[in-house]
Amino acid sequence: MVQLQMKCSIDFIGKKRNGVEQYWCITHKALASDKQGNRLSSCLCPHKEVFENVWDIEKGPIKSLEILFMNILENTIPLIFVNHELFHGVFQYKSSLLNYKDLVGIMLSKLNDISLEEVRCNHCNQMHSDNGKFAYTPHKTHLCLYCGHLFRVKEANIGSEMEPIFPIPKIKLEHASVLVASHCRVQYDLLKGILLINSKSVDKIVMNGQEENIEDFLNSFLENEY
Ligand SMILES: [Zn+2]
Ligand SMILES: [Zn+2]
Ligand SMILES: [Zn+2]
Repeated sequence: MVQLQMKCSIDFIGKKRNGVEQYWCITHKALASDKQGNRLSSCLCPHKEVFENVWDIEKGPIKSLEILFMNILENTIPLIFVNHELFHGVFQYKSSLLNYKDLVGIMLSKLNDISLEEVRCNHCNQMHSDNGKFAYTPHKTHLCLYCGHLFRVKEANIGSEMEPIFPIPKIKLEHASVLVASHCRVQYDLLKGILLINSKSVDKIVMNGQEENIEDFLNSFLENEY
């Protein structure tokens, strides 16, 4: 693991249709201008500190990769465990930089049985990962988080930078249900394809007397995590 101090690196990316200028931070993959189009000295990424811990996947082999939502009803930011140890940071692989949102995106794509593709931005040529609702909704217009530009592809698809690095298996669920009241612990082992809700492998949850498929439940909880 390498420790790095990563400062904002802000570029002008163009004007919106209404003429407002936009700036983008390529370090933290986040917008760096306000609603009036003023360039900010620091971008809008709410968790810059995680970018200070960078795990270079080529130098530090990953044998186990898991995410854990302690209680997804209260907090949609998971803890990350690499090789069974807590890791508070981002992953680097060649020119890709991946954070917890990309791991959550993989979980949603696999849960919805999406075939992931290698999608590249035609402005900066970086690979593209889809998270939140975009991880299970094929789309033609992608927002590149590396350069902040929109780019279009011919056929609607969903991108992943992770799948070319690791073979990530489908998620296997038992035909069972679990009762969820005030606590819903979600554990996902990416490399084994195991998803547990309150320590059980289930394909349905029962909450407030309503039964719901796991994918519908998690899709709606995590749709805005992009
Ligand atoms: Zn920044
Ligand atoms: Zn780009
Ligand atoms: Zn996309």
